[in-house]
Amino acid sequence: MEKAKILIVGAGPVGCVLAERCANELLVPVQLIDKRSHIAGNCFDRQHESGVLIHQYGPHYFRTNDESLVHYLSQFTEWIPGNYFVTSFYNGQYFPFPINLLTLAQFFGKESLTPEEAELLLEEKREKIENPKNSEEFVLSRVGREMYEAFYLGYTVKQWDMHPKELSTSVCGRIPIRLNTDCRYVDHAFQLTPKDGFTAMFTKMTTHPLIDIQLNTDYKTITEKPAILIYTGPIDEYFNFCYGKLAWRSLSFDFKEYSEEFRQPNVQINYSNDFDYTRTVEIKHVTKQEHPHTVISYEYPQAEGDPYYPIPTNENHELYLKYKALADKETAENNVYFCGRLAEYKYFNTDEVIVNALHTFESIKKKHGN
Ligand code: FAD
Ligand code: UDP
Repeated sequence: MEKAKILIVGAGPVGCVLAERCANELLVPVQLIDKRSHIAGNCFDRQHESGVLIHQYGPHYFRTNDESLVHYLSQFTEWIPGNYFVTSFYNGQYFPFPINLLTLAQFFGKESLTPEEAELLLEEKREKIENPKNSEEFVLSRVGREMYEAFYLGYTVKQWDMHPKELSTSVCGRIPIRLNTDCRYVDHAFQLTPKDGFTAMFTKMTTHPLIDIQLNTDYKTITEKPAILIYTGPIDEYFNFCYGKLAWRSLSFDFKEYSEEFRQPNVQINYSNDFDYTRTVEIKHVTKQEHPHTVISYEYPQAEGDPYYPIPTNENHELYLKYKALADKETAENNVYFCGRLAEYKYFNTDEVIVNALHTFESIKKKHGN
């Protein structure tokens, strides 16, 4: 293989997509590195010792409204329907979550509720807040205090170690509230899971004679600078934390094997008011793997560890904007492209980062393509 013209730091979804695009369209050698021992970034799935396929870094529910994105990814995988159903454990009972007509009826002890009856009930419960400024105000203005305290407050405090008052509306605003009986976790038009898993999909994407993958390789150890650098690691680290560190929330995952086919009725159970963990995940409900054993992942939020979630406060956003100004200069002057959840310090889902990667590729092609 000739000397790589493009170096990509990070073999997560963004790094893999950009490697594939550069190799197939620009026809140039690409060096794709990751400090971890595997590709696929946080979408990485693998066989647990038991043989059960697990999502190593939390459940990944692929969803999108973008049909062209599904077409693009379908070159590398077949799909099975997404089966994303979540319940929330409160007061000894399991409630469908996100909140919908069934949740409302169960919570307020009604046999059933029509959308009109639910609207009247919520009208009584909602706090009158015109322009919610934070996650607490957002939820109070949508469902009122009782359900806020049952389903959101404790979960959010555990997840972020911050009060919902301190977090932007976008955090709890991610969760829909529905006046119908749709119990799916998300609303998107396409809810699909790669048939053989994410790692298999990204492996197929990056298996190309022009792509050289080096794992267990930190960017810090690379001395030779390429003509084009695509950087998907944390943006503050790239600039040696010159303005200080950006804050991240991390998680630890405790995987437990059980010798039964299924242990939970659905893939994810959220615990707002019980236990130290936020949720238990039995991904077999989504992967549809047939296996006599199962594995449950218990998710414990923590301050230290891999950077998983950018913390969306105004202060962190301001700090990010300072790094972003440096990054824009670096792109213009030195052909360094920043893309992805870590490099853009944003709570992106997988479909969103892949779309961003495809846009970044268009910029690279415009500037460097023949
Ligand atoms: P990443 O996947 O983070 O990949 C970046 C890679 O860069 C990593 O592998 C890292 O090791 C590597 N790297 C960093 N620094 C260096 C360095 N210095 N040298 C070499 N390599 C480096 N999205 C969904 O659509 N649905 C979900 O249900 C969902 N659930 C999630 C649950 C959790 C717990 C988390 C944390 C995320 C979830 N996501 C979900 C989001 C999804 O994981 C991300 O959108 C996606 O992985 C981002 O891709 P990326 O390539 O930007 O970054
Ligand atoms: N959330 C909550 N209760 C729940 C689930 C989520 O309060 O049962 C809040 C919490 O603050 C969380 C946010 O909503 O961080 C977004 O939840 P989501 O499940 O989308 O988070 P992710 O899957 O990205 O961890």
